Amino acid sequence: MRPHAIMIPVPYQGHINPLVGLAINLASRGFTITFVNTHFVHHLLSKTHSDVNDHQTDMFSEARKSGLDIRYTTISDGFPLDYDRDANVEKFWDYMLEDFVVQVEELIRNIVKSCDFPAYRTLLITDTFNPWHAKVAKNCNLVNVSFWTQPALVLALGYHLDLLRKNGHYPPREEKTEDTITYVPGVEPIGTKDLMSFLKEADVTVILEKLVFGAFEQVRYADFILLNTVQELEPKTVHALNQILPTYAIGPVNFSARDIKISKALVQQTDCTEWLQSKPPASVLYVSFGSFIQTTKQVIEEIAHGLVLADVNFIWVVRKNIATDSDATSVLPGGFEQRVKEKGWIVPWCDQEAVLSHPGIGAFLTHCGWNSVLESMWHGVPILCYPFLYDQPTNRKLVVDDWKIGINLCDGEAVSRDEVAGNIKRLMCGEFGEQSKKFRTLLRDSLGDGGSSDKNLERFVEDLRAKILELN
Ligand code: UDP
Repeated sequence: MRPHAIMIPVPYQGHINPLVGLAINLASRGFTITFVNTHFVHHLLSKTHSDVNDHQTDMFSEARKSGLDIRYTTISDGFPLDYDRDANVEKFWDYMLEDFVVQVEELIRNIVKSCDFPAYRTLLITDTFNPWHAKVAKNCNLVNVSFWTQPALVLALGYHLDLLRKNGHYPPREEKTEDTITYVPGVEPIGTKDLMSFLKEADVTVILEKLVFGAFEQVRYADFILLNTVQELEPKTVHALNQILPTYAIGPVNFSARDIKISKALVQQTDCTEWLQSKPPASVLYVSFGSFIQTTKQVIEEIAHGLVLADVNFIWVVRKNIATDSDATSVLPGGFEQRVKEKGWIVPWCDQEAVLSHPGIGAFLTHCGWNSVLESMWHGVPILCYPFLYDQPTNRKLVVDDWKIGINLCDGEAVSRDEVAGNIKRLMCGEFGEQSKKFRTLLRDSLGDGGSSDKNLERFVEDLRAKILELN
């Protein structure tokens, strides 16, 4: 009995990547997939990849050639293609949270009507941060699968918001900023400073509140929850979640699609292979703050000076909108690129997985986005943590305090070039190599035959089949 999964990501790179990995994984286990991107995401893909065009081909063309049944369609996000979604985040998300749901429902009904699968064999798999998913699944009578793209720890904290409220840790209070939280089931003692940013800010925007708290509320109604983490990484938390929610730790899903070419980058990638080839093993620091986060010119300048002081080889992804107060041409200190040209390379975007897999890479300075953390661990690359927002401070806690596969870029809020340089030198000297290799093995074993993630995914497939039989 072949299930049919309709899969809808949150339209950002860091959310598309893991859902694509999951799509490949499920298709390899006999699922038919219909993957839905927004028109805008598809437009970016077709601008970036010669093998994706507007009508005939899509990001899964190669996957289909290798026999996987992955269908593809697109949906409007309500704005014209040339609309600047990043500059108008509030307006964009206002639409995505309020009106998009009507279109999604209509599309899903059409997909179900026109395809060769009965509704009871169809499931909706969406990112948990699409907080409309429970409503849509219910209205369309579909099995509801919520895909959690962050660590189990973040889900556990968000799920138990009522406990945080009861103990006076949410909304945040001045006198509680140094507290340790010891009462969340399955969560080791955690400082309030390590909570997700939206739990530490007194004035969260209305949109963020709807998006994040809506997700933590809606996830309760899911029939199944798939976690992009590994059971052995967070055993107590995964176990505790399992007592209250139907969860399956199946990560890191991004690596399920390694043999199949998927055109998923939304931005043109600079090929770093040749440059890396010219550098000694483990001598290059890779620096990237992901696809979304923005900082200030001052922070970028301190990091730039720190790199010079550390005298290290580096590849640095400087996106054109990395700073809120400067454009890409002037965000770096004057003459910086010329000054570091023997040792450093600034790129607007690269194939991060390819870079991290190169033996030339010795460490990764990251904002601690969860994909970046998992990708670094997968390749056994030690991590230098500089978290900004959302789940990043909490991810940092796992990396530095719990797993000990990295260190902080700076201790405290301010970024100083001397501290940056000192910590880069410390991480590059190999102190964390052994521990990082241990976690590399742990991740690879989990995905291998009979590993925990492999078994958990199989368990999900069996439980899903049982549910489908029950619905029929
Ligand atoms: N990424 C990439 N090239 C870059 C920078 C990032 O391919 O130059 C990818 C990276 O491999 C990861 C995703 O973009 O899969 C970023 O996700 P993450 O969760 O780390 O951060 P976010 O962008 O969501 O903040």
